[in-house]
Amino acid sequence: KLSKRLETVVSFIPKQSKLADIGSDHAYLPCYAYLNGYITMAVAGEITDGPLRSAREQVKKTGLEHVISVRKGDGLEVIQPNEVDCITIAGMGGTLIKNILDKGKEKLVGVKRLILQPNVGAHVVRQWLIDHDWELIAERILEEDGKIYEVLVAEKGDGKKPYVHLEAEVLLGPFLLKEQNEAFRKKWRQEIAQWRKIVHELSKKATTDEALAKRKELERKIQLVEGILE
Ligand code: SAM
Repeated sequence: KLSKRLETVVSFIPKQSKLADIGSDHAYLPCYAYLNGYITMAVAGEITDGPLRSAREQVKKTGLEHVISVRKGDGLEVIQPNEVDCITIAGMGGTLIKNILDKGKEKLVGVKRLILQPNVGAHVVRQWLIDHDWELIAERILEEDGKIYEVLVAEKGDGKKPYVHLEAEVLLGPFLLKEQNEAFRKKWRQEIAQWRKIVHELSKKATTDEALAKRKELERKIQLVEGILE
C-alpha cells in the first residue's frame, strides 16, 4: 500500500503515460502506477547507490523489469528527449526540485505534465514553473503522519497567456489559496508562528541594517499571510 502522499501524486498521472520518476528511492511510485493501470512504462531515476539498489530490488520483486527501467544518474540526465511524457519528482525540497528541472530543461521536450511534491519551499517550484511557461493546473495539500505535503501539477503552457501572479499565489498556491482546507490553514499558522519566533529573536539582539531589513520583510510576510487566513 502506498502512502497517501504518493497516492495523491499518482492520481494526477494521465492514463497511458510514459513516466519518469526522479529520485525514485524504493520505486514504489512507478510500480504502483504500473500495477494500477496508469502507465505503460517508466524510468526510475536515482543518484544514490542505496536507494538505487532498493529500486532495482523492488522492480525485480514485483516482476516489472520489462516495463520499469531503473537508471543511475543526476536528475533528468537518466532520460532522453521525447522518451517520457510525464515526470514525477516527490519527497525533496523545492530548491532541489527546481534545480533538477532547470539543469534538465532540454529533456523536457515531449513532456506534457509535471507532478511535483516539494516537502518545503513550494514557492520556489511555482516561480520556476511561471518563469518557464509551465501552467499550474491543480494543487493538493494534505496531512499525513503529522506532516503537511503539497502536490503541484503543471502542464506546458502555449506561451500566449500573459500571466499576472500575485505574491500570495506564488507563496501559498493559487488553488490551495482558494480552497483553504484544514491542512492549508494549519501549515500557514505554523509558518507564521515560526516567522514570529525569528522576528522576536532578531529584535532581541540584531541591530544591523541587514537584520532590520530581514525583520521588516518577515513582518510583511506575516501580515500578508494573516490577511489571507482571516
Ligand atoms: N520520491 C520518493 C518519495 O517521495 O517517497 C523518495 C524521496 S527521497 C526522500 C529523495 C530521493 O531523491 C533520495 O533517494 C535521493 O537519493 C534522490 N535524489 C536526490 N537528488 C537527486 C538527483 N539530483 N537526481 C536523482 N535522485 C536524487
